[in-house]
Amino acid sequence: MRPLARRMGRLGTETAFEVLARARALEAQGRHVVHLEIGEPDFDTPKPIAAAGVAAIERGETHYTPSAGVPELREAIAAHLKRTRGLGYDASQVIVAPGAKPIMFYAILALVEGGDEAIYPDPGFPIYASMIGFAGGTPVPLPLREENDFAPDLDELRRMVTPKTKLIILNSPHNPTGGALSQEAVREIARIARGNDIWVLSDEIYADLLYEGRHVTIGREDGMLERTIVLDGFSKTFAMTGWRLGYGAFPKPLVDPVTKLVTNSVSCTATFTQRAGIAALTRRPPEVDAMVAAFRTRRDVVVAGLNEIEGISCRRPSGAFYVFPNVTKLGLGNAATVASRLLNEAGVACLAGTAFGAAGEGHLRLSYANSLENLQLAVQRMREWVRSARSTPVRS
Ligand code: PLP
Repeated sequence: MRPLARRMGRLGTETAFEVLARARALEAQGRHVVHLEIGEPDFDTPKPIAAAGVAAIERGETHYTPSAGVPELREAIAAHLKRTRGLGYDASQVIVAPGAKPIMFYAILALVEGGDEAIYPDPGFPIYASMIGFAGGTPVPLPLREENDFAPDLDELRRMVTPKTKLIILNSPHNPTGGALSQEAVREIARIARGNDIWVLSDEIYADLLYEGRHVTIGREDGMLERTIVLDGFSKTFAMTGWRLGYGAFPKPLVDPVTKLVTNSVSCTATFTQRAGIAALTRRPPEVDAMVAAFRTRRDVVVAGLNEIEGISCRRPSGAFYVFPNVTKLGLGNAATVASRLLNEAGVACLAGTAFGAAGEGHLRLSYANSLENLQLAVQRMREWVRSARSTPVRS
């Protein structure tokens, strides 16, 4: 058999789906597992949004649309970005896709090739490094350290930039740490990008899930609209993960090439899904704000609960729905060992920080997109497991 294309060896994956499979296997054996591994809201899609999708199907909106999306949705997205973030993209610069993830895929494929370097946050969403490598580029991790509140060290970023640097990826609020970029950091990163002619992919999928301060977007900085792709979607804010609906706002020269990538890959996004997206943006049902308020309460409960466990310390993140506790002082092994033992011995599914890059060592990522009751149960199980694991001598 002839071998696979070499680029397949450079493709990574998302560990969350593997841990979910392991957790399901335990459940199939009758074990109870609290699921804190997957990053998706536990809420259902608000009824008015779902109803708009259903009504579109019933009206027969089940045909192809233009590859970049239906004009009404592209307009609603441009208006939303203007209203909520002051971004001046025209509707013609918005490209709709089946989820925000494909926007990452398209942007990186369109910009990065052999000989290029692309800087991405570490820890960070695993698909960034995977796609940079797949496209033939060199992934350059920008460490986000706990002592810096998971913000990038800008001197370090400056030193990382070379003439080969083609792209910088930002993600704020951030998965997996929940950290958010400050206005000062964004301004400085914009200066670096402009000064070195670098494109920026700004992943703002958690922009609406911010519990302190205001979301800052690099697209607002001087001259940055011309070099910034803003990535966002409906999965998180509107609890629409399974609908598959996301978008990118692109600098003008990227619109046609990326639209061609859409035509070559998926043709277009489901029509009725796009109709549901219009309802989400134009009506913003009250359920959305109730969901955000619930996440904030859960964050506070989880952070307080984790900090009460001896050997675990957890910063209070300002956004998204993840906590990234430090577990090094437990003395129970590296992050992967602790995560795996928590699943097998305590029935708590979470991810090792290293699932998000080497800089995530010593941390776990817990998603608090779960009920308060389950979160409390998870913290209680973790507390009991830590107590018993630390009192059991390690076998050598
Ligand atoms: N960007 C980040 C940082 C994410 O965490 C996720 C999903 O987990 C996505 C993008 C992709 O979201 P979507 O479901 O819209 O593809």
